[in-house]
Amino acid sequence: MATKDTFIGAKFIGSFLSHEDLPTDEGDEIAFCGRSNSGKSSAINALTKNKKLAKISKTPGRTQSINLFCLKNDENKRLIDLPGYGYAKVSKSKRQEWGLIIDEYLNLRKSLRGLVIIMDIRHPFKDSDQMLMNWCQETQTPFLILLNKADKISRNKSHSELEKTKKLMKGVTVHHEIIAFSSKDLLGLGNVNRCLEGFLSL
Ligand code: GDP
Repeated sequence: MATKDTFIGAKFIGSFLSHEDLPTDEGDEIAFCGRSNSGKSSAINALTKNKKLAKISKTPGRTQSINLFCLKNDENKRLIDLPGYGYAKVSKSKRQEWGLIIDEYLNLRKSLRGLVIIMDIRHPFKDSDQMLMNWCQETQTPFLILLNKADKISRNKSHSELEKTKKLMKGVTVHHEIIAFSSKDLLGLGNVNRCLEGFLSL
């Protein structure tokens, strides 16, 4: 169960091609990142209960811009949809360009309060996911790992993946949470709500 309806009714602010185009850097933001096709758009849609908010791409890797959403009643609390990474079918230079957009956002944006790192529970911890976690640890940025698409595996397997991930996080000192999630059947949604409200100090 969700603690409140904090993220329902979130509004699209706009798409921006680089950090310098973003709206004023004030308030509080949570950034969503993950490999292409990990289910980033679906997770944002599940959280906001709006199936059309973040476009669910049929072609992975299409989201190249930074998409901003704000909470219904507070423009200074935002959700940030960063470009998906690791999509093999785009050129190397395109991939580098997306990497740079993500890099700049993470290192320059003062409003960033927490990161959601979305992974497919069946293929977690690819290189880029690992790099993001290391960055969170170095910069003491709280993060949430969403082990997404948990509906694709059995409950037992999902539980063991969760335990395995917790063990991997043993040395991590910055605040972090790990949640087995499914945007299809909304498994874990209440806990995600609670965690993200915490990031925004709500
Ligand atoms: P993005 O590229 O990371 O934004 O990923 P999308 O949200 O566009 O999802 C990629 C594909 O995975 C789509 O076909 C979604 O329907 C599917 N998908 C996303 N989340 C889930 C989930 O929790 N369960 C299942 N079964 N499929 C999912």
